[in-house]
Amino acid sequence: MAVHSFIVVGGGGSSGLPAGKRWSVHVGLNPFNTIFGAFSRDLGIDLGTANTLVHVRGKGIVISEPSVVAIDTRTKKVHAVGAEAKAMVGKTPANIVAVRPLKDGVIADFDVVEQMLAYFIKKAHAYAALPLVDPRPRVVVGVPSGVTEVEKRAAREAALNAKAREAYVVEEPMAAAIGAGLPVEEPIGSMIVDIGGGTTEIAVIALGGIVINHSIRIAGDEIDEAIIQFARREYNLLIGERMAEKAKIAAGSAYPLDEEIKVVLRGRDLLTGLPKAIEVSSVELREGIAGPVNAIVAEVRAALEETPPELVADIMEHGIMLAGGGSLLHGLDKRIAAETRMPVHIAQDPLSCVARGAGKMVEHFDNSVYQDILTRAQTSRRVRR
Ligand code: ADP
Ligand code: MG
Repeated sequence: MAVHSFIVVGGGGSSGLPAGKRWSVHVGLNPFNTIFGAFSRDLGIDLGTANTLVHVRGKGIVISEPSVVAIDTRTKKVHAVGAEAKAMVGKTPANIVAVRPLKDGVIADFDVVEQMLAYFIKKAHAYAALPLVDPRPRVVVGVPSGVTEVEKRAAREAALNAKAREAYVVEEPMAAAIGAGLPVEEPIGSMIVDIGGGTTEIAVIALGGIVINHSIRIAGDEIDEAIIQFARREYNLLIGERMAEKAKIAAGSAYPLDEEIKVVLRGRDLLTGLPKAIEVSSVELREGIAGPVNAIVAEVRAALEETPPELVADIMEHGIMLAGGGSLLHGLDKRIAAETRMPVHIAQDPLSCVARGAGKMVEHFDNSVYQDILTRAQTSRRVRR
């Protein structure tokens, strides 16, 4: 389990730089881009471990597909991407493997991520097809806040190699907070907890900056894995990842349900080798997934303990915002509320928060708050020439 926590000093607009100078000093944007920007179809991308979403400037979210790539092992060629590739997981013929190139929230396989991004960017452009539109957009990509500088650069390079004209990264919790409509630029502490497939990102944001940040590599995937282990341990039943995820969505929970339910797990009996189906209750399942769920809740508490008291007071008043697909786990909001004694809200359409946040940033690219946020998120800037 990797835990990252750090404090970013300085808030939005506090740089003391004259407003006019901010761009050249901070981001160094080409002034022509502002003029052409009005005509280009810039992209905000949520490169999630489970799902990739693409927001096209002026159009909204046009792509939402699993971050899965099917590769032919003989030719090393990409066979399918996205939904088509996910349908192949666990069912591929010998020469084709379906991979999730971002399994732990980081770019594990640079080439594959690049090809996946290129595919999604091309597809987004097909949706936004307009004559005279620059086919080389500016791109804002959400990356987990725990990633290293090298990984940030890898994400930017991947976007640039996928024909982006300029590429910027933004920390996912910041994008999620913007997407969830939190007042990130104000002197008010907001807490966002984004539970994705590979990572849970917890951040306290104020004045356009991330004040407290915790990122753990425990999220939806680990809950699925816990269900696989549970079925094996308790029932000698071998189930696949997709079965586990379905059971989690149907009957997984983090808090007692008003009405406990049952779900059928189908797989292979490890003793006989034959197919087997068993019915399990949501109560058993809750115990089965307690490990990763407890770890997530404990991390939220740890982040709160580190938060300066003034900001804790704000969070008490406004509540903790949950985002990401994992926030839909039944009762997770109640559980976090019970253990932190804070009000907890689930963002509207939690799966698209990061994409909507990155989308807002490309819609209002010149907004000084977003400029500051982007500047802080980059360490080195690269513009394709
Ligand atoms: P990422 O940002 O890593 O791509 P997402 O925010 O797209 O992740 O969330 C994907 C995760 O959310 C997966 O682990 C998925 O199983 C989980 N998920 C999606 N819907 C639900 C649901 N209704 N209940 C519980 N978990 C869910
Ligand atoms: Mg995400």
